[in-house]
Amino acid sequence: MNCRKMKFAGLAVLAMLVFASAFHAQQTPGPGEKPTTAMPDLVQVPAAAQPSAHFDADAATEAYLAQIPASARSRSDAYFEGGYWLILWDFLYGVAIYFMVLHFGWSAGMRNFAERITRFKPLQTLIYWTEFLIVTTILGAPLGIYEGFFRERQYGLATQTFGPWLSDQLIILVVNLILGGVVSMVLFGVVRRLPRTWWIWGAGVSIFFFTFFIMIAPVYIFPLLNKYTVLDDPKITQPILSLARANGIPAQKVYQVDASRQTTRMSANVSGFGHTMRITLNDNLLRRGSPEEIQAVMGHEMGHYVLHHIPKDILYYSVVIVIFFAFLRWSLEGCLARWGARWQVRGIGDTAVIPLVFLLGSLLGFVYTPFLNTHVRTTEHEADMYGLNASRQPDGFAQAAIHLGEYRKMNPGPVEEWIFFDHPSGRNRIHDAMRWKAENLQLFTQKADH
Ligand SMILES: [Zn+2]
Repeated sequence: MNCRKMKFAGLAVLAMLVFASAFHAQQTPGPGEKPTTAMPDLVQVPAAAQPSAHFDADAATEAYLAQIPASARSRSDAYFEGGYWLILWDFLYGVAIYFMVLHFGWSAGMRNFAERITRFKPLQTLIYWTEFLIVTTILGAPLGIYEGFFRERQYGLATQTFGPWLSDQLIILVVNLILGGVVSMVLFGVVRRLPRTWWIWGAGVSIFFFTFFIMIAPVYIFPLLNKYTVLDDPKITQPILSLARANGIPAQKVYQVDASRQTTRMSANVSGFGHTMRITLNDNLLRRGSPEEIQAVMGHEMGHYVLHHIPKDILYYSVVIVIFFAFLRWSLEGCLARWGARWQVRGIGDTAVIPLVFLLGSLLGFVYTPFLNTHVRTTEHEADMYGLNASRQPDGFAQAAIHLGEYRKMNPGPVEEWIFFDHPSGRNRIHDAMRWKAENLQLFTQKADH
């Protein structure tokens, strides 16, 4: 996910969605048509990457990269680099919307409307939240539709027509209405009852909801958009379950998701927490991935599992949530002292403050982007190292890195990677794999002898 923000209302939910998408890691291409700029389905192990006495990791990496058609690479670069600008436009556009909603008194108007309908405070919060979500969704639609629909189609990554895409967005909106509604009712209850220490308790409540969301999402949320089934082809599951047993993972089942409904991206992920933790492959990976590639990707996902990345990330994001609430406590009071009267926002216990919370959250989230990416990229690199050792499939791993290069720039500069990449770049991943191969050449030379 990409990821970022929380406080009263939907900030918590947004952060959850972002967090979830971080674990959605990587994704591949759809049914039937394939864009001409797609990466090759099966990359041959290039001569320079074949085991030999003079095997060189750098040369092997270059040989893999050289197999990528120039058209595929330039399209992937354009798609990914466009994403850098979208981070900025999303931020500016969002801030403009929240500012407008405050400045023109719409937020106060929505609150007044909620107060006319009921005297029951939690219900007022729910009504305000519904109004706020609908208004910001409509105002955000032009950029949202371009980014989520037209741009994905333009780059051959989307498989949906507009109708099904829109219906997915409506499902997400309803989930946000319900979850964000519950979170905002509880948070405003806390703020009103604990006017001094609200930020500490608010952070606690948000961390609780965040963890709860991670736990229920694989069972109750994700299936709203996609079909999750138990994978039952023994040809595929036997090697995966064997790999799981060898790594002490008590998995009986591997799940498959029909990601090709929305996208051509290849991916797999580990999701959930406690009893709901599970490993899922998407159907694009199953269809286009070689057996070696699937093993390499599963080794990576098992790394997330064995290294406890989800519980550790819950701890990490808990700290982020506390920092955000501390920032809110400091910044909200200052903003309201200065502009509260003009915006007709009565205080931090007034639901009309929500757009300001989102505005401040966007600000913090924007500044935080490179640090968040670096946190996620670091854990992804850990999973890569684990996956190479577990699967012993460096060439499958290189193939996967090339497939993921359909939507992620293969060869960025180091600063660019630090700021923008939430996974190691394709080049670095291939190099990691070839370095591993160089240190384990005996595994491959013996194989070649038989
Ligand atoms: Zn991962």
